Amino acid sequence: MILVNEPLLDGNEKKYLNECIDTGWISSEGPFIKAFEEKMAAAVGRKFGIAVSNGSVALDAAVLALGLSKGDEVIMPSFTIISCAAAVVRAGATPVLVDSDPVTWNMDINQVAEKITARTKAIMVVHIYGLPVDMDPVIELAQKHGLKIIEDAAEMHGQTYKGRPAGSFGDISTFSFYPNKHITTGEGGMIMTDDESLANKCRSLRNLCFLPEKRFYHEELGFNFRMTNMQAALGLAQLERLEEFVAKKRRMGQQYTSLLKDVPSIQLPLEKTTYADNIYWVFGIVLNDEVPFDAFEAMKKLGAEKIGSRPFFWPMHEQPVFHKLGLFVNEQYPVAERMARRGFYVPSGLALKPEQIVTVSEAVKKILS
Ligand SMILES: *Cc1c(COP(=O)(O)O)cnc(C)c1O
Repeated sequence: MILVNEPLLDGNEKKYLNECIDTGWISSEGPFIKAFEEKMAAAVGRKFGIAVSNGSVALDAAVLALGLSKGDEVIMPSFTIISCAAAVVRAGATPVLVDSDPVTWNMDINQVAEKITARTKAIMVVHIYGLPVDMDPVIELAQKHGLKIIEDAAEMHGQTYKGRPAGSFGDISTFSFYPNKHITTGEGGMIMTDDESLANKCRSLRNLCFLPEKRFYHEELGFNFRMTNMQAALGLAQLERLEEFVAKKRRMGQQYTSLLKDVPSIQLPLEKTTYADNIYWVFGIVLNDEVPFDAFEAMKKLGAEKIGSRPFFWPMHEQPVFHKLGLFVNEQYPVAERMARRGFYVPSGLALKPEQIVTVSEAVKKILS
């Protein structure tokens, strides 16, 4: 079986993890946390990094730190992971959805403008699958209407927009270090910002809102969103190789593209836009309408060929859990709906070898012939 994702952990990971064990520093109090936060902040060009236990709670903390609550609207793509909308809903605020661009798979900025109301407080930008959202028009809209930008850069380690690092655009930005991201800590996430008061709020929310002077006395409700020293040890070792990993992912994407570009019945990831070259977080494939089966059937057929795959995101407006809350009922976003039904991704992990990419590509051709 060729797995859909296998991480690459053959740098200093063992050495740094052994240091945790040898020194006994395994909790969030250990020294790798601060080192990892500082190195990530430097890599992304931000003042502050706040390490947390995963990318989803990074979004929860971001939304809460901005003070978003009942009556506030946050515009975001329907085509994303539930973490984005869940963070807004849990804070008591309202997610407002837009459709995606069928070519870049990122949120349609023209629709963002149409969804701004007097209640809109923020735009949650989500960079999808390897290409960043076109940020200039988003920043222009945010400035014009006095909106905050929350930037979900979970899939964008090492990517840039017009030469500037992804994760440097939000008033508050977030990353994930799940094993399928370009760098991993097993589970993990980070919040990035240049605003000291937002950084302090996130640090407090991460650590149960303990008061520095009166530890077990609370003025606010927080969470335990802390990352362990062992996760940060992995993260530091991974971060040392970010450039190499991004270059490798690009080579993998290019190899898939050259092997599959002449297959007539599929859409491949866009190689580049005027503002960024794809870093292929995953290598997505969307079946054209003439293919007589959908993504789920395609994934079954690939499984029979011993090739792992995963479906694309299922749109937020088609989630029963949100319908039960009275959200997005009868809303339609045809691009997101089509991508969910026709899209899937093939093995794209950093440990994937060129000969495996050939095997996967042959299997994709076979199931389509
Ligand atoms: C992976 C991912 C997340 C969530 O990260 P976890 O660490 O798995 O919680 C959030 N947003 C996007 C766009 C992601 O791809």
